[in-house]
Amino acid sequence: MSKTYNFSAGPSMLPESVLQQAQAEMLDWQGSGMSVMEMSHRGPEFMGVAEVLHRDLRELMAIPDNYKILFLQGGATAQFSFIPTNILGDKNKACYVNTGAWSGKALKAAKNYCDVVVSASAETKNFTAIPDPSTWNIDQQAAYLHYTSNETIHGLEFANIPNVGSLPLVADMSSNILSRQIDVSKFGLIYAGSQKNMGPAGVTVVIVREDLLGKAQSTLPNVFNYQQQVKYESMLNTPVTYSWYLVGLVLQWLKAQGGIASIEQVNQRKAQSLYAAIDCSSLYNNAVAIADRSRMNVPFILADKGLESVFLKAAQEQGFLALKGHRLLGGMRASIYNAMPESGVEALVQFMAEFERTH
Ligand SMILES: *Cc1c(COP(=O)(O)O)cnc(C)c1O
Repeated sequence: MSKTYNFSAGPSMLPESVLQQAQAEMLDWQGSGMSVMEMSHRGPEFMGVAEVLHRDLRELMAIPDNYKILFLQGGATAQFSFIPTNILGDKNKACYVNTGAWSGKALKAAKNYCDVVVSASAETKNFTAIPDPSTWNIDQQAAYLHYTSNETIHGLEFANIPNVGSLPLVADMSSNILSRQIDVSKFGLIYAGSQKNMGPAGVTVVIVREDLLGKAQSTLPNVFNYQQQVKYESMLNTPVTYSWYLVGLVLQWLKAQGGIASIEQVNQRKAQSLYAAIDCSSLYNNAVAIADRSRMNVPFILADKGLESVFLKAAQEQGFLALKGHRLLGGMRASIYNAMPESGVEALVQFMAEFERTH
């Protein structure tokens, strides 16, 4: 197989060294005589894997002691579906910011449980700019404010954490967790599915401030109840053990890269280089306001729509995989998460320039 670069939005590419390590340890994890897949989640070997996983995430993200870390199932979709029942407590309303497809889904799911105050919406601008947080309608009687820190489909990302006063801030960080430094203490709750920037699909990270625990409605099944999962250290039932292990390897890889501060600089350079290539071309276009452009997901269209399939075919043939845009938006999308090396983005930029020259 020749060299390929995988720009898939998720599940997405993993660092090659992580896959190699997983391969090397596949049949016999560190002399245990078992694959990680075959281990009891309560045995000493896997308990060791779990402990390092928790410790590394806390260290990498500098998660304060008054926050619990959970590794759950059901994806980010399960989280945004259960968050209201978990943390509304005796309140009956919550604020949501609508900046794209994912925040829209979270908002809709919340309507099953409470009144939803739409604090701001980017819909009138066709999801190409994030409304300035100073203009948001924030209801201080609400239980929390939810936003999506990176819109994977629309390619919008918050450059800064919005200030929402004393309301607990809840963030869907599925597609930009671990990509930039954030101050966890500004949040009530952070959640993220693993398959964008942390590992394979299967595990969902939840980072929850302790004061938000114990507010769940009694009808909520225990497996979805944060306080119950905290009590059992995310092992109320069998966890997705192999996904935990792989996320653990990705965290170790990230530490070896110099942690989040270092990878953030790489991510900045990659995004800059790709947006610069788009902006200086007359064939490619990205409509997102410059300040709100995602460093992780770069959607773009071609001035000549008829060339799209030609572009995608040529890209595929030269090893640039999964550049087709989301079905909602069409066009192209290059997802350039932590695992995408700078050389991959440089090669794509060159390919795009060459394609423009020859078409
Ligand atoms: C992918 C994604 C989701 C959905 O994740 P699932 O694991 O499919 O539930 C939610 N939010 C964001 C921002 C995403 O990128």
